[in-house]
Amino acid sequence: MGTKARELVGEHADRIVEFLNRALADEWLAYYQYWIGSKVVKGPMKSAVEAELVQHAADELRHADMLVMRILELGGTPILTPKRWFELTNCGYGEPENPFVKRILEQNIKGERCAIDVYNQITSYTRDIDPVTYNLAVQIMTDEMEHEEDLQSLLEDLENMKFLK
Ligand code: FE
Ligand code: FE
Ligand code: MG
Repeated sequence: MGTKARELVGEHADRIVEFLNRALADEWLAYYQYWIGSKVVKGPMKSAVEAELVQHAADELRHADMLVMRILELGGTPILTPKRWFELTNCGYGEPENPFVKRILEQNIKGERCAIDVYNQITSYTRDIDPVTYNLAVQIMTDEMEHEEDLQSLLEDLENMKFLK
């Protein structure tokens, strides 16, 4: 714990830790959704989609890392068991039971939109009380917006393939 770090956010520390742990659950589920999606994905543009999913998986894991560092600074306990992921998640998990590219892209776009909402809420809550967490949430939200756009343009390219013949 950072004693001064915790002191600066005062009475809000526990609430912020709770937000961060919920986001941590989301990031791990998003990581796995991307990672397993990259393994099973099938259909046109498979290799482009697979490469994007692998990259996004790495980003989600990096986000998990950033969140845990901040939770520890604030004197909180990060989620210690995967069992908690489903209890705390905001965005849930999109199981890629249909591995067709279009379906996988749509599931992940849905996840990114939820993630953007989550980080937008964290930025609103922390804006005036915790500039460090605020800055962290802005950084992550910036990545999630990029993820959404990357997936949407892949989906667009995929849909445009019907004009090829
Ligand atoms: Fe993320
Ligand atoms: Fe993302
Ligand atoms: Mg990307």
